Formats: sequence, structure tokens, C-alpha cells
Amino acid sequence: METVKYNRIMLKLSGEALAGKKGFGIDFDIARKISKQIKEIVEMGVQCCLVVGGGNIWRGRNGENMDRTTADYMGMMATCINALALQDSLESIGVQTRVQTAIEMKEVAEPFIRRRAMRHLEKGRVVIFAAGTGNPYFSTDTTAALRAAEIEADIILLAKNVDGVYDKDPNKYDDAKKFEELTYLDVLEKGLQVMDSTATSLCMDNEIPIMVFGLNKPENIKKAVLGKITGTLVHK
Ligand code: UDP
Repeated sequence: METVKYNRIMLKLSGEALAGKKGFGIDFDIARKISKQIKEIVEMGVQCCLVVGGGNIWRGRNGENMDRTTADYMGMMATCINALALQDSLESIGVQTRVQTAIEMKEVAEPFIRRRAMRHLEKGRVVIFAAGTGNPYFSTDTTAALRAAEIEADIILLAKNVDGVYDKDPNKYDDAKKFEELTYLDVLEKGLQVMDSTATSLCMDNEIPIMVFGLNKPENIKKAVLGKITGTLVHK
């Protein structure tokens, strides 16, 4: 019997993780692979919530000549599309889910209600938080940090396309060095590409550990929950 290290997790998936090799839109094979891993950890008794980005469809900064707020609302809508895709993928393999959105769209999803989200988690449902924080000028990393604090998650599992945090881009430099552990202040002072500074500060103030790991293999999600992954741990 495998023992889980974290009982309640916040899994943050970037929009790009859902796009797969296409780099745009949703690759349903990838969504299914991720869903199967989530199913396994839920069956192990782990309470799991998800925040998914929107970068595979739209990011606020894509709207160069647009009003920033409008462009950001488009980004939040993009996260809703991804949340529904993940919900569908999870439910197709028998995982119970609820989508809760920060922007009201009651025909599509529940509004975000913290106590209700906690109850869903206790009942073994996966809760997918959509529409970011509901505010422009923020990111889905900040959403993950905020919701993790609110629902008292043990850790944020930050799935990336690299297997941890490096001192420089490992795709460009052969001598890039991976960090095993970092403090929040290291991340902020060195300007490391983990999360944006708002999200990192929120984690620091609320002492929420972050495990950065690679989603090149979806089974890494389960390994992360078991504490068997060698990504980068950001903590106090
Ligand atoms: N966004 C926002 N407020 C939020 C969360 C997201 O305005 O609280 C917008 C923002 O424009 C962002 C886009 O939604 O660029 C998609 O989110 P993000 O870039 O974090 O997605 P990811 O990079 O993780 O795919």
C-alpha cells in the first residue's frame, strides 16, 4: 500500500500543458492521460482541486493593442473552456467533479463558494476552479495560490514543461543547474521563473509549499503526491 504525502492538493496545470505538441487548443489524449492520473490519486484518498491556465487559447498579453482589462477577461474565459474540457475528460472515466467559477455563469458551472468547495473535496469530488481570480491583472498562478490558501491545501503541485527550477533555461544551456530546494525569497530575489511574484508572495505569506515538476510524464502527478518526485520544492 503506497502512502500519500499530501492529503489535500492544489494541482496547477498551465494551459500549454493541455495543448500538447500542437501548442494550441486542447489535445484530448493529453487531457485523458492527466485525468487518469488524477483518478488514481483520488482513489488513493487524496483530495484534489485544480486550477488550469488559459495560455493554450488566449493570454491577456496577446492583446497588444487591446484594452488590458478586456484582454484579461478573454483570458479568464479561456480558462473556463479548459476547465470544462478537463471536467468532461475526468467524468468520462468516472471521476466526480465540480467546476466553480470566479465569474458567474450559472448555466455552466457553480459560483466559487469556499465552504461548498471544501465539502466537495471531502466527498471525493475533484473541484476545478475556473475564471482565475475573477480579476484582471492577475494570473492563474495567483489563482492557484489564493485558492490553495482558502481551501487549506497542503501543497501546490505546479506542473510545468520542465522538470524543476533551473538557474538558467535548460533548453538553451547545457550547464543549467537544477535546484532541489529553494526559499520563496530565493525565487523572488533571483527572479527565477517559478510563478509570478504576486503568486510567490502569496505562497510565502501563507507558507504554502510549492513543488515544481515536469508533466512530460503524466505519472509524475502521482509520484509528486507520494513525495517521490525530484522536482524543485519551494518553501520557507
Ligand atoms: N487572467 C486574469 N485574471 C486571473 C487569471 C487569469 O486576468 O485571475 C487572464 C490573464 O489574461 C492570463 C489569462 O487569463 O493571461 C490566462 O491565464 P494564465 O496566463 O495564467 O494561463 P497559463 O499561462 O497558466 O496557461
